[in-house]
Amino acid sequence: MAVQEPAVYLGIDVGGTNTRIGLFQTLETPIFTLLARFTTHSAYEEQIQQMVAALVENGITSIKGIGVSVGGRMAKDGRSVLVAPNLPDYEGKPFARDLESLYHCPVRLAHDTVCGLLGEKKFGVLRPVERCAYLTLSTGTGAAFQLRKGITTLTVSIEIGHQLLDGNTLHCLCGQVGCLETFTGGKQLEMRLGHTLAQATDRQFWATFQAKLAIGLVNLVQLTRVEMVALSGAIALKNPDLLQQLQEAVDERLRGARLTLQYAQLGENAPLVGAAILLETGDETLLH
Ligand SMILES: [Zn+2]
Repeated sequence: MAVQEPAVYLGIDVGGTNTRIGLFQTLETPIFTLLARFTTHSAYEEQIQQMVAALVENGITSIKGIGVSVGGRMAKDGRSVLVAPNLPDYEGKPFARDLESLYHCPVRLAHDTVCGLLGEKKFGVLRPVERCAYLTLSTGTGAAFQLRKGITTLTVSIEIGHQLLDGNTLHCLCGQVGCLETFTGGKQLEMRLGHTLAQATDRQFWATFQAKLAIGLVNLVQLTRVEMVALSGAIALKNPDLLQQLQEAVDERLRGARLTLQYAQLGENAPLVGAAILLETGDETLLH
């Protein structure tokens, strides 16, 4: 008699640059086996084919559920991507339905910040905090926050990078004038600088970056009363001094509340781990 292959969970992180697929035997630990890592295809159909090919290559046939983290705003029902500036071909495509019909298992999608928050909430620095947020500093500046009271939890994806800063006349890639992201978004900063952020060694540049981001975080605290923010994304993870300097800039401005900043404990894996956790997270607790 053939031995039945044990069913597994998949967490998939579809980033603007790379896609990573993690295999989880259980959702009770953040430990996963990295099955595949490939360049994210900008064409939706090709991306699905690449994901399928990666699973075929690894002999994965029996799946209990697939959670997907995407760098884009979800439709309200969480079944497709509504807006993804870095992956426009994905917009409006039936992402969840397509994977469900291929694998006959539950499929859940969420914004990468929601997934990152869920990962840090279950296994990382946000564990003890009832009002918390997750901030990603990468191509763009994104965030999600979570409020909890008793057994009631609400996780909300927000456009923190597109809040307006008084006096800012810079045009943002989103079409608005004056967004925070004109000072903190990797893509538009690199376009304006004409070189990569890794080459940005000017102290004044980073001082401005921190000062503007501190305003954005103070606004976040005053609007949501979050008490801790987990910081992640390539810009945060590649700048080890950023956390302390940003904390000082926030402390200087914020009154009547206290915000603690921490690096995401799961680092770049937070969205992938959180994608799998989506499978045990009630959809009614997520505002996409
Ligand atoms: Zn904007």
